Amino acid sequence: MLDKYETVIGVEIHVELGTKTKLFCGCSTDFGAEVNTQTCPVCLAMPGALPVVNKKAVEYAAKAGLAMNCHVNEHSIFERKNYFYPDLPKGYQISQLRQPLSTNGYVEIDVDGKTKRIGIRRIHMEDDAAKLVHAGEGEIDEAFNSAVDFNRGGVPLIEIVSEPDMSSVEEMKAYCETVKSILQYIGVSDCDMEKGQMRIEANISVRRKDDHNFWTDRSEIKNLNSVRYAMRAVEYEVERHTKALEEGKTLAMETRLFDVGRNTTRAMRGKEEAHDYRYFPEPDLVPIEPSREWIEELRNSLPELPYARRMRFVEEYGLPLQDAISLTTDKKLADYYEDCVKAYNDPKTASNWILNELMALMGNAKQTIDECKITPELFAGMMKLIENNTISGKIAKTVYEEMFNTGKDAETIVREKGLVQITDEDEIVKIVEQIIAENPKPVQDYKEGNTRTMGFLVGQVMKASKGKANPQLVNKILLEKLK
Ligand code: ADP
Ligand code: MG
Ligand code: ZN
Repeated sequence: MLDKYETVIGVEIHVELGTKTKLFCGCSTDFGAEVNTQTCPVCLAMPGALPVVNKKAVEYAAKAGLAMNCHVNEHSIFERKNYFYPDLPKGYQISQLRQPLSTNGYVEIDVDGKTKRIGIRRIHMEDDAAKLVHAGEGEIDEAFNSAVDFNRGGVPLIEIVSEPDMSSVEEMKAYCETVKSILQYIGVSDCDMEKGQMRIEANISVRRKDDHNFWTDRSEIKNLNSVRYAMRAVEYEVERHTKALEEGKTLAMETRLFDVGRNTTRAMRGKEEAHDYRYFPEPDLVPIEPSREWIEELRNSLPELPYARRMRFVEEYGLPLQDAISLTTDKKLADYYEDCVKAYNDPKTASNWILNELMALMGNAKQTIDECKITPELFAGMMKLIENNTISGKIAKTVYEEMFNTGKDAETIVREKGLVQITDEDEIVKIVEQIIAENPKPVQDYKEGNTRTMGFLVGQVMKASKGKANPQLVNKILLEKLK
């Protein structure tokens, strides 16, 4: 990308709150229930049915605000956002515009070892629309029929609106992951993007670095079902905007849709077609007026947040910052790590096993840490076998993988697979002599001063012993024999 320009990105994130019931009625929010079984007169908008605010939802929304350093307002109101669409039986969404629950916060992100603050403009509450299922290709206008599942209608959402403080897709990625991590830590949402619990909209414009008067009107990109898609869409837009600036063209402010298949975006509607939502205060709901005491109580109830935890991992366990970040982004992984350290007190080694081995194994098996068969106790058991020289670190990898697959303890695996380390010097001497005999050339090279062939010879001995020879002994004996 040309050096003359800089990218400006602001993100809106919708998150479904993990309350048991909907925002304005008692219907269940359970995911995956049979269609249209979690509905009532309120969320189906029967005439005369009145909404009542779910206090838990306000609590979760306020906690999200506090965790992102916002001011939680002592007075906020719901408003009607009017538009017609089949997923909206009331004909309006209940949202917040002029007086949102929380304002003026920030989160801290890390990119390339640098910490940056991203402003949070506001976090407001609203109810989710129902889910449309289109039969046929594409959107509603191309479908031969469309069905509505009202189970999702009325589920509580928060919308987190950032300031346009991000200047690269990497920063946007870090921001989305940070927000997700914080919300998972405070337990207000699982943020499972595959279940639509977290949805991203990205706003982007490009401007000249030396002269901020030259810039493109922003596009807002919808339909981003993953952080990866958001990055691809923004990359595409940055190129489009930069080209326009370069050619002296103006771009209309517009809403665009990401096309996953083509890896591009296309216009959905321009500013002229922008909806006039005719917002007005919701007459059926009282304002939200949380007391200062309640807000302070919520603030005090917040757990250690990812940023603090990461810093503690560096301090307390002596981990490199990058490892601490990798371990703490996912709360469950961080908990697992600390349990492993409790079971076997070697923080650095535990971190290495998790970040190098476990992550790869889980990735291949498409597993999450919840499903991990290697309990902290099993891990400790394996570490003790390394400690007392029953197995080498190399064999431990085999044991670890087997524990991962079967959940058996290390001792059983070592016994069943005959993996006990060879520490009998006579036995190693035999293998060493055999390898020396079979490799006259490297041996000759070594004697002539090319000590690099030592590594090769050690490797051959380890291979001949099927990885079971004690590596220190192999080194020692080889050195003696080559003298
Ligand atoms: P809307 O209601 O149309 O979505 P908002 O004023 O609420 O408009 O802003 C939405 C998002 O757009 C915010 O996240 C904000 O940071 C971002 N934004 C505003 N101006 C720009 C810009 N010039 N470039 C990129 N993003 C921007
Ligand atoms: Mg918007
Ligand atoms: Zn209902």
